Parts: sequence; structure tokens; C-alpha cells
Amino acid sequence: MTYKTSKIDVWIPRTNLGRMVKDGKIISIEEVFQEGLKIRESQIVDTLLPDLQEEVINVNLVQQQTDAGEKSRFKAEVAVGNKDGFIGLGSGKASQVRNAIQKGAVAARINVIPVRRGCGSWECGCGQHHSVPFETIGKCGGVTVRIIPGPRGLGLVASSNTKTILNLAGIKDCWIKSFGSTRTTPSFAYAVFDALKNTYRLITPSDWVK
Ligand SMILES: [Zn+2]
Repeated sequence: MTYKTSKIDVWIPRTNLGRMVKDGKIISIEEVFQEGLKIRESQIVDTLLPDLQEEVINVNLVQQQTDAGEKSRFKAEVAVGNKDGFIGLGSGKASQVRNAIQKGAVAARINVIPVRRGCGSWECGCGQHHSVPFETIGKCGGVTVRIIPGPRGLGLVASSNTKTILNLAGIKDCWIKSFGSTRTTPSFAYAVFDALKNTYRLITPSDWVK
């Protein structure tokens, strides 16, 4: 299911980065991350990653206590990615499912990160960007996820939601191992996202020679 949330043509930027992107002074998302600039508008991501795809990972009904009593709202987790090294994950809450998904989709864009890919599998050694470059670990709410590099042709050995996220990131072959007692879908998805984020936190010996 795909929801198009942002309309770039009617966008009036509210941030400096937004204005630079709209005016064509910044034309690549790599530039944004190299300069360490913070994305605060979803349209920045829509402009710089026009091939972005969107997937709903989970929708929950949540009960909230308010002054007027108990109120039901929907909470949605949405993932976005260009299937080529960029992934975002976000959550949104609203009284209607559709609005919760839209809010989640905007949050996912604002949370977009680069994913370092590679061939970290000793069995493979092809040197192409089909997997992760090394084993990476992510955590969220008591869930720990390990992404283990796999050889070409292995596919994604993971649950369907995890596959959706890895697909959007552009990772084709890997194993996923998970630990923890509370394997709820949102925590699990965020742990996978954290592991993907960690592909850029770790400095490997191959970076020293660059
Ligand atoms: Zn390989």
C-alpha cells in the first residue's frame, strides 16, 4: 500500500536547508549528510530522493487516558526508502488510520538515514553492495537485532516486516537474528532501523586507507 503524502509543488520551505533544496542550491541527499545538516521538512527528502517508496509496517489501536475519559487512537509505523542505500522509519498517531499513516510517513522522511552496504560475507567476497559490510547490531525497547552479512543469492532470511525494511534500504542478502522478550512489531522495526544506522557509526579498517 502506498500513500503519497507530500506535495512538492505547493511546498513553502520553513528552514534554511528547505530553501536551499527548493532553490536547487543543494541537489543531492549525500551533500546533506556530508555537511551534517538536520532534515526538518519531509519535502526535502521527497525532492532529493524522488524514487522514494513507502510501506506501512504496522498499525495499532492505542488507548489514551484524557480528562474526558479513555480515548482510542491509531498508531502507525511507516518505512520509506529508495532501495538504494537510504531508509527512514517513523511513527504517527491520530484518531483516523489514514491520518496516523500520513503522520508516520512524514516522520519517516524526516528520519531518513544513509545505509552503508557491502559484501561482508566471507563465503561470497564478490565486493558488490548486496549485503551489509559487516555484522551490525541494533536495539529498541528490549529487542536486540543482529544483521549478519550473507552471500549473494541467499535472499533475506527474516520476518516479512524486516524484509520490507531491508528491501527499502537496498539490502538483498542477509540473516537476521533477534533477542529479547518484547518482540512487538514497532520495537522490532526500530531495532532493525537502529542496526542499519549503525553501519555508518562503526569505523572499519577499510576506512583508514580511503
Ligand atoms: Zn558478495
